[in-house]
Amino acid sequence: MVFCYAKQDLDDGGTAIDLHFCCLGSKLWLPINIQPILGEAPGRVPLEILAVDRLIRRLTHPASPVSLPIREFTTTTVLTIMLQNPAQKYRPFQPIQISDRTWPSRTIIQAPIWLSTDLRDGNQALAQPMSIDQKLRFFDLLVQTGFKEIEVGFPSASATEFEFVQRLINENRIPDHVTIQVLTQARESLIRRTFESLQGAKQAIVHVYNATAPVFRRVVFDHNKPETIELAVAAATLIQQLAQQQSDTRWRFQYSPEVFTSTELPFARDICNAVLAVWQPRSEAKAIINLPASVEVATPNVFADQVEWMHRRLDYRDAVVLSVHPHNDRGCSVAAAELGQMAGADRVEGCLFGNGERTGNVDLVTLAMNLYTQGVDPELDFSSIDTVAEVVKHCTQLPIHPRHPYVGELVFTAFSGSHQDAIKKGFAQRQSEDSWEIPYLPMDPADVGRSYEAIVRVNSQSGKGGIAFLLERDYGVVLPRSLQVELAQVVQRVMDNSQQEMSSAAIWQLLYQRYGSSAGPLVYATHSLKTAGDNNQVQQLALQLDRNGDPWHLEGAGNGPIDALVAAFRQNGIHLEVASYEERALDTGSGAKAFALVDIRGEDQSQSYWGIGVHANLTTASILAVINGVNRLLLTLPDSTVQQRQVLHS
Ligand SMILES: [Zn+2]
Repeated sequence: MVFCYAKQDLDDGGTAIDLHFCCLGSKLWLPINIQPILGEAPGRVPLEILAVDRLIRRLTHPASPVSLPIREFTTTTVLTIMLQNPAQKYRPFQPIQISDRTWPSRTIIQAPIWLSTDLRDGNQALAQPMSIDQKLRFFDLLVQTGFKEIEVGFPSASATEFEFVQRLINENRIPDHVTIQVLTQARESLIRRTFESLQGAKQAIVHVYNATAPVFRRVVFDHNKPETIELAVAAATLIQQLAQQQSDTRWRFQYSPEVFTSTELPFARDICNAVLAVWQPRSEAKAIINLPASVEVATPNVFADQVEWMHRRLDYRDAVVLSVHPHNDRGCSVAAAELGQMAGADRVEGCLFGNGERTGNVDLVTLAMNLYTQGVDPELDFSSIDTVAEVVKHCTQLPIHPRHPYVGELVFTAFSGSHQDAIKKGFAQRQSEDSWEIPYLPMDPADVGRSYEAIVRVNSQSGKGGIAFLLERDYGVVLPRSLQVELAQVVQRVMDNSQQEMSSAAIWQLLYQRYGSSAGPLVYATHSLKTAGDNNQVQQLALQLDRNGDPWHLEGAGNGPIDALVAAFRQNGIHLEVASYEERALDTGSGAKAFALVDIRGEDQSQSYWGIGVHANLTTASILAVINGVNRLLLTLPDSTVQQRQVLHS
């Protein structure tokens, strides 16, 4: 970090600047005359900003053209720059010497024991801690979701925390299958107060921790290793005694060496084993050893090595629940928790959607859904993930990122054409009994209560696939490929102008406007259809149109209404073929309607003139579709061609 202090001497017209300059850690302010460094005459006001920028650049990056951010520069300013050699300031983490590690080849095949610390670690990270009402609501949510172990607070830390624990107990809010956990430091008065808060609880976990990492031992507590162990053992002993005095409660104990990840492994082992020696857990009364990555400082494989190292060296291992508590400083907490389980952890502590100190505790929802999408029952229920998110947002007053795994608003949405195309094809080929395999959709959104509405959204990056997907999903209309291409160009033009997303209703509207409404010379008035011939094989059509404002009567016969209509047009000089015809029922919400789609071709057959008809009656819908297609054909023909032929045929 470089601090700059500049003084512009206005007496001489603002042409000179005194710049004072110092690096973080140095107490010396170096006055520097910038003129010789800049090598040019300084101007007036913008000079201040320019000068600092160029000066810093020259002093720190003599040969590089790196552009430094230019800050607003008044009399004193602080410029932060990243170091060219960060090793001057930051040290790399050390690998763990463990050659026979087994975790890399393990697979997670069952859910861990989950501990939600939303009400403790999560809460203590909030700018505005939760009120008791918010905590109660959150607690109920955690119970509904399926948590059986919930850390509810730090009751010795404040009256609110104490009262909350007491209310949970006194108001009988804790179901029998749920155990609350409370945190305390390893100090006698705090431990005693903690036990007071738990009076009346059917079962509880007392979670005690002390600082074991060298920096804490040295800087904060001035304890050597034996003194640190002594502190933990004294706390463990007191906890056991107080528990015996409150024998109506079924107690479990948990110990955390804080910060485990920065503690020398042999020392972490020694202190955990010393605590276990006091508690003497049995397999029917297990103790919990929790390994907090209170600050994430290494890649997840290093954490896994640390966990496996401990897992193999803990005494009473069969009577110990080995727990991990990853934070997310490096953005790897989910990986750390997963690799930690592969390395021997039985239990994971974290928060919903990753709330917690700094970058948060590990996100338990992501962990659970990662299991689920591997076919493993997570034993937590996120069937209505949006409801869970609403409660969490309400209680924490924190937003959830739209791209947050599994829950973000956009995580099941594709805007890009190629993704939409692949998703559409995936859905088309999917049989309901198949295992889930849709391109770009790692899970079925329906499983977390999401609709398919959001999967495909159309904006200027989308192509025909997305457009066709929306029309098929919301209107049941399958467009032929060449019409998809044509319509996509129309949609694209609108989108390029508006720069906005387009709903399926708006796309439907565009489709209908272009292919379904009579924007040509012919307007349908009425028709009648009669059957004739042997076995009623012939249909005779009489059609009344309006052509350029004049009534026009046509008649034709064929083996169906479309055939008869084509014959009628031909007899009147309009040569056309129907290259394809489709019909389907359309449920637009206001009752089912018939939808007809025709591909009309002119004489040379090369160009498609698509027409759409929508009507309550199927025959009328198909007649409308043909008329709309013919209208589009007529608009491309010189009027004279048609009129000449009409004369010839009449
Ligand atoms: Zn924590």
